[in-house]
Amino acid sequence: MTQANPAHPRQGLLIVISGPSGAGKGTILRRLFERRQDCVYSVSATTRSPRPGEVEGKNYHFLSLQTFNDWIAQDRFIEWAHHFGAYYGTPRAFVEEQQKEGKHVVLEIDVKGGAEIMAKVPDCVSIFLTPPSWQVLEERLRGRGTEKQEQIAERLLVARTELKNMEHYSYTVVNDRIEEAVELVNSIIEAEMARSSRVYRDKVIQF
Ligand code: ADP
Ligand code: 5GP
Repeated sequence: MTQANPAHPRQGLLIVISGPSGAGKGTILRRLFERRQDCVYSVSATTRSPRPGEVEGKNYHFLSLQTFNDWIAQDRFIEWAHHFGAYYGTPRAFVEEQQKEGKHVVLEIDVKGGAEIMAKVPDCVSIFLTPPSWQVLEERLRGRGTEKQEQIAERLLVARTELKNMEHYSYTVVNDRIEEAVELVNSIIEAEMARSSRVYRDKVIQF
């Protein structure tokens, strides 16, 4: 059903994935991309400094404040926001090109950005990834070891607000066991591509 008909290429999904820092978004997505070649990651732009191991153009486009402001002025972001003292935004051109080519574009963004996308793109697929408990979230965030003590405290504070937004998402995936969470995200993609409105729009089958 999800195979593209060469005469009528299917349009890819716009998938929004949100969840508190430490929920496991990066971990789940890495596995999803290994499994599905039809999914691509929308690399956000940010003005924050790269963390050890982060690569320009892969994890983020690391922009100066000046360039970020220029991009805003040129309407080159679908949405943008400010958190933890830095700016973050979703470049528009990549998303639109990839969807046209039939790729499912995954946006890993915060709940504010997610709400903006849901308002602007009503047929997006919104997924909230949550840890199984608050305690597990704290353990994972500390265990990752990428933030200092006060940054962890700040992220946990923000996590409280993020978790309150779960109900606005079409799907909630509990990240308890990694493989099960990946499987569920994969099933959501399959089900969304079988949605009659998309099948009809893309003229997948005609009588
Ligand atoms: P996020 O991208 O949402 O901030 P990460 O993917 O970096 O979260 O995950 C936070 C930490 O939790 C990482 O150290 C990761 O290895 C670990 N982790 C993620 N998912 C699980 C899971 N299901 N079980 C155990 N540890 C996990
Ligand atoms: P981090 O600094 O941990 O990579 O990201 C901090 C926060 O910024 C996370 O909540 C992340 O989801 C959010 N973020 C990353 N990219 C974007 C984006 O393009 N737009 C918005 N609105 N938030 C983003």
